[in-house]
Amino acid sequence: MSHVFPRHSKLNPPVAVGGEGCYLIDSTGKRYLDGSGGAAVSCLGHGDKEVAAAIKAQIDTLAFAHTGFFTSEPAEALADLLIEHAPAGLDRVYFVSGGSEATEAAIKLARQYFVEKGEPKRGKLIARKQSYHGNTIGALSAGGNEWRRAQFGPLLLDVSHIDPCYEYRLRRDDESAEAYGLRAAQALEDEILRLGPETVMAFMAEPVVGATAGAVPPAPGYFRRIREICDKYGVLLILDEVMCGMGRTGTLFACEQDGVAPDILCIAKGLGAGYQPVGAMLCTADIYDTLAAGSGFFQHGHTYIGHPVATAAGLAVVRALLGRGLVGRAARQGETLMRKLTERFGQHPHVGDIRGRGMFRGIELVADRDTKAPFDPGKGVAGKIKKAAFEAGLICYPMSGTIDGKTGDHVLLAPPFIIEDAQLDELTDKLALAIEAAI
Ligand code: PMP
Repeated sequence: MSHVFPRHSKLNPPVAVGGEGCYLIDSTGKRYLDGSGGAAVSCLGHGDKEVAAAIKAQIDTLAFAHTGFFTSEPAEALADLLIEHAPAGLDRVYFVSGGSEATEAAIKLARQYFVEKGEPKRGKLIARKQSYHGNTIGALSAGGNEWRRAQFGPLLLDVSHIDPCYEYRLRRDDESAEAYGLRAAQALEDEILRLGPETVMAFMAEPVVGATAGAVPPAPGYFRRIREICDKYGVLLILDEVMCGMGRTGTLFACEQDGVAPDILCIAKGLGAGYQPVGAMLCTADIYDTLAAGSGFFQHGHTYIGHPVATAAGLAVVRALLGRGLVGRAARQGETLMRKLTERFGQHPHVGDIRGRGMFRGIELVADRDTKAPFDPGKGVAGKIKKAAFEAGLICYPMSGTIDGKTGDHVLLAPPFIIEDAQLDELTDKLALAIEAAI
């Protein structure tokens, strides 16, 4: 019997004992191709010797020094490197231990900024229906995933959720992608005006939507218009790149491809690449300076923020991404993956959409391609694909997404950037088997 909860006791999962490149290995010796990097985490693959050595060296030198007293060399070096490559205007870095901590901190930072600025009425957050921002109460409130929110009703913060930018389902046939992008962004201005601009503090969104919908990229121009609207009403733009950041979409930060820079940017997952739990929140000098000139500090903190070993791992990961040309590789191999998925599933009667950017790809499954009708949720297609793929030795990340109660099944693919062409073939072959077994 396993004493690890919550899921393990029920599912009786295999015991992972090793990792090599794009594969995980269980205690029976079975190998699994990591087609989703866990949950878009393992960008470098498993068993990276340089990252392991950097972690070991840091533990041998300094394992921990509380940030209430000290900063540390790896935290300073990682912050410098991130700011050197971050979108224009981002100037300060706050390290945390994961994605939910990053988004939670972002919400609190936005609130404190306006209080210190003398605009205490600004406390409302706007986010999107098709989104996931984490599992702590603030982050869960910001997310629009109905299933994850369902049981926590009375505790959740009151966050407005506007429609996402979701071309496959929400663009009209007579509308260009650009026109749709503008119309989708208009929902933000409408909501700001409905709430009263003087009460709104921030808009939070994932540049490419991950865990709720399977790699949904924005329509062209959507985020540029969102940025204009935020600026017009003095609303902060918080971009959550916890899943889509750190090179996953083919640029170090996903928002680079949309030509926008946020006021606050959240990263995690790929930052530690699975070697250490580490995330970060980046913010502008204006936000930082406002707090510095006011109360003097961010009224927030966890014991393990800026952890030396976690930031040393992050530093080794970012150096590997940049130094080994892995971001460009994610872009190139991502195109190969897209081509292989299109060849294999482009005409499939139950594949409605294949999408994404770089090494962040999604497939949307439908009961009927013409009407785009989703499968009956009771059929549990996503869960069955996950199970069949796992049995065949493929880790992929299937999920059911919801917008206003309409459910669809998706598969998210996010392999390590080091993946070879032959392994992409293995991935598509095994996924095809799993889809056939599930439908
Ligand atoms: N934001 C996004 C976009 C995510 O995908 C996730 C995790 N799937 C989170 C936040 C939360 O991150 P964590 O699980 O590390 O708390």
